[in-house]
Amino acid sequence: MAIRKILTVDEDVLHKVCKPVENFDQKLHTLLDDMRQTLIDSEGVGLAAPQVGILRRVVLVDNGEEILELINPTILETDGEQEGAEGCLSVPGRYGWVKRPYYAKVRAQDRNGNWFETEGEELTARCFCHELDHLEGIIYTEKMERDVTDELMGEE
Ligand code: ZN
Repeated sequence: MAIRKILTVDEDVLHKVCKPVENFDQKLHTLLDDMRQTLIDSEGVGLAAPQVGILRRVVLVDNGEEILELINPTILETDGEQEGAEGCLSVPGRYGWVKRPYYAKVRAQDRNGNWFETEGEELTARCFCHELDHLEGIIYTEKMERDVTDELMGEE
């Protein structure tokens, strides 16, 4: 396993639509293992393949119990609404106020190509939406209402 470099928002690759994963092979497994190591090292809650320069539909989400591997994910269902500060490993040192659904259910494939469903509330739902946006080349700063400063973060 290796830690991969996390690209920042000025890189073109973060603004492109990712292609579906078709081969559930060793190359994918290496990517997933490296992304897991990179996510843990960066202390983030989610990471999408384009953030490490790979234009494929692969994301990792830490739901607080485990790091989920989501291949070719789609959102099946959302419910409610939440507002809060959101950040991104590709936009270091900045937070923005973003509205997201309170609940999200996702369908995805695992590293062997088997389909499964998973769901989450609060931060996990926010993370599903944020990471799946990356696969469409969308960064949260395009959706945020305003910047959240360090002082505001401290008041929460
Ligand atoms: Zn992000």
